[in-house]
Amino acid sequence: AIKATGVHKAFGSLHVLKGVDLTVMPGTVTVILGPSGSGKSTFLRLINQLETLTGGEIDVDGEMIGYKYVERRGEKVLQTLNDREVAAQRAKLGMVFQRFNLFPHMTALENVMEAPVHVKHMNKREARELAVAELNRVGLADRINYYPVQLSGGQQQRVAIARALAMKPEIMLFDEPTSALDPELVGEVLNVMRSLARDGMTMVCVTHEIGFAREVADQVVFMDGGVVVEKGGPEIITNPKEPRFKDFLQHVL
Ligand code: ATP
Ligand code: MG
Repeated sequence: AIKATGVHKAFGSLHVLKGVDLTVMPGTVTVILGPSGSGKSTFLRLINQLETLTGGEIDVDGEMIGYKYVERRGEKVLQTLNDREVAAQRAKLGMVFQRFNLFPHMTALENVMEAPVHVKHMNKREARELAVAELNRVGLADRINYYPVQLSGGQQQRVAIARALAMKPEIMLFDEPTSALDPELVGEVLNVMRSLARDGMTMVCVTHEIGFAREVADQVVFMDGGVVVEKGGPEIITNPKEPRFKDFLQHVL
């Protein structure tokens, strides 16, 4: 589970997140909607510790991220986690970005094997088996020896998903995974996400794909101006209460 409480983030004088509260239950799909600049990516990046909090707290699996309490002279004080502790927390999360970020000089198979071998020190034979299985799961069994340039955008994004899955994350974070794709390639990536959801993966997805949200989301969150303006079940897409959410939906639908 993810539990964000009063999350604030500022970049210098720019106050981007202004008290975000959100709970993501295990095995559920949360879709975050919101206009450009509302802080959606920043929120995902905070969960994955690619940014540090300005205020508030985020717990993953009941454990506060980035910090721990230690006893000092009989007092409990907050201490920053060391690199190893941060890495252990980040290993619970897989993240997929708008841009696929594959290593261009490696085949699909090598891209997926990379982290299991170099981060988890898995032996190559085992990593290869795992990578083949994950590529199969995203429907790319017949493309394992292709280089990124030889793959379509949708196929590259599916390799990126397989690469994240190969690290066996408990939670997957998606930041507009289909926004950079040609329209005809969006469906194949959404299908992979749909099947992950069906398999019970805990997912947080920032996307403008309203149909996907309506169909797959257990929880829909509308962010604007650094706060959660409205959240609820997928029915809020059909019956939004807040004027700003209504307005947003009118523009994207
Ligand atoms: P989009 O839909 O365009 O992806 P978003 O909701 O994901 O938007 P963010 O990327 O989280 O929005 O950005 C929120 C605000 O924070 C923007 O004004 C952005 O310019 C600013 N911002 C994000 N990252 C940084 C940074 N590293 N340094 C300074 N400002 C930043
Ligand atoms: Mg963004």
